[in-house]
Amino acid sequence: MSSSHSSHPSVASFTPPHPTIDSTPSNTWDVLIVGGGPAGLMASIAARTSGATTLLVEKGNRLGRKLEISGGGRCNVTNANSLSEFMENVLGSPRFTLSALHRFSNQDVQIFFEDLGIRLKEEDRGRVFPVSDKAATVVHALVRYAQSLGVQVVLENPVTGIITQNSRVCGVQTRNGPIWAHTVVIATGGCSVPQTGSSGDAYPWVRQLGHQVVDPYPTEVPLTSDTPWIIKKLVQGLSLSDVTVQIRQDGKKILTTERGDLLFTHFGLSGPVALRCSHYISTALRKAVNPSLTAIIDILPDTPEDELQTWLLTEKSTSSRRYLSSLLTQRLPERLVAVILEQTGYNGYQPIVQVSDRAIVSICQACKQLQVHIVGTLPLAKATVTGGGIATQDINPRSMESKHCQGLFFAGEVIDIHAHTGGYNITLAFSTGHLAGQQAALSALDFPH
Ligand SMILES: Cc1cc2nc3c(=O)[nH]c(=O)nc-3n(C[C@H](O)[C@H](O)[C@H](O)COP(=O)(O)OP(=O)(O)OC[C@H]3O[C@@H](n4cnc5c(N)ncnc54)[C@H](O)[C@@H]3O)c2cc1C
Repeated sequence: MSSSHSSHPSVASFTPPHPTIDSTPSNTWDVLIVGGGPAGLMASIAARTSGATTLLVEKGNRLGRKLEISGGGRCNVTNANSLSEFMENVLGSPRFTLSALHRFSNQDVQIFFEDLGIRLKEEDRGRVFPVSDKAATVVHALVRYAQSLGVQVVLENPVTGIITQNSRVCGVQTRNGPIWAHTVVIATGGCSVPQTGSSGDAYPWVRQLGHQVVDPYPTEVPLTSDTPWIIKKLVQGLSLSDVTVQIRQDGKKILTTERGDLLFTHFGLSGPVALRCSHYISTALRKAVNPSLTAIIDILPDTPEDELQTWLLTEKSTSSRRYLSSLLTQRLPERLVAVILEQTGYNGYQPIVQVSDRAIVSICQACKQLQVHIVGTLPLAKATVTGGGIATQDINPRSMESKHCQGLFFAGEVIDIHAHTGGYNITLAFSTGHLAGQQAALSALDFPH
């Protein structure tokens, strides 16, 4: 760094409207980070801890806006499961993320926050939240720590491009003029929920520098359907806990089988299990023209089909006068019973003793394989996570540095990495941010000053 820290704006307030940044090339930051989400915040902390003068430039009026709404406002900050289980949940470029995760893992994320005095708790499936149940606790901890280390922050200053010379980064162009730096970390996020600030700004900049960008697509997003009983809203708002959903393409090819809670909506399927299926739907839609996609729902995954049949056949054999629909509602929600009976074409208002064995077989089959035709997903703006982004083949996984432009680093969801919900995405942002910040600092401090 060619100037002392004191010549930079004070970080005492994190909401300066337009702080004065000396934007002459003689005032060059060691590390300049673009974007103040979890990746950018962690990169700034790692860079500053490594001894680099560090400036974080954010276009919004505060840091961590997506983090604030994450986990339903509670922030599922990481996942406590083993690294191998963690990796099973990374869907976009898992091999690429390994180096970063080995250097700063999901366990390190927990230690990091606990060292900052943030108490964490583990919930189902390893999901880790702050004990406060408030995402703001996590955002404030990161911002305060960055501030205490001397990370400088500029808010409300959108970066508009990357300045390079001879394939080496020199700084960034911003709405308020250029800012010079030995190294730059791009941590601008993906482009889902763009009102949080992540709107895909960096893709054209990096394309210009020779990087490939995998077209962004929605993932961890609800599924849309044209199945009549869905769009007629017969089950809108109905939630089923712990069901199995299998996604099949063209009737036979199984794309995935997921288990968890499901919510029927007026447009299709939502809830954790639908979100887990969405990556496979988005991928199939990107690869094939009009693929035929079906979600096959097993409403009673722990009850084998023959056990269900035996139950109804036994009822029948006792000459029971109970109605078929009333028996089925012992095990299934009433609205779903109506759908199953309509689908199979049998009348539920007849005593079980009058129901044919063939009808019993087909009703049991429908309980185990209820079919919903899937036409797509909600759009990217409504997705939890962005699939696609800067191609990992253009980034060195051991440093997060660009293979095309020296001194340019990447972190977080702007890269073509993504995972299931469950604390995995924020962890990927933290671990790639940590590695990028550290390596950018090393590279900058090596730079002839
Ligand atoms: C509703 C919702 C809930 C979620 N819940 C969870 C959860 O509980 N657990 C989990 O692991 N993941 C969750 N995620 C995903 C997770 O929030 C993201 O993966 C993560 O925030 C990505 O971090 P990031 O730092 O890469 O990007 P972001 O958090 O998107 O941050 C990018 C930052 O860059 C800034 N920026 C963009 N362009 C510019 C520019 N031109 N100039 C300057 N600054 C710019 C943006 O304003 C933003 O502050 C959730 C996502 C959503 C939408």
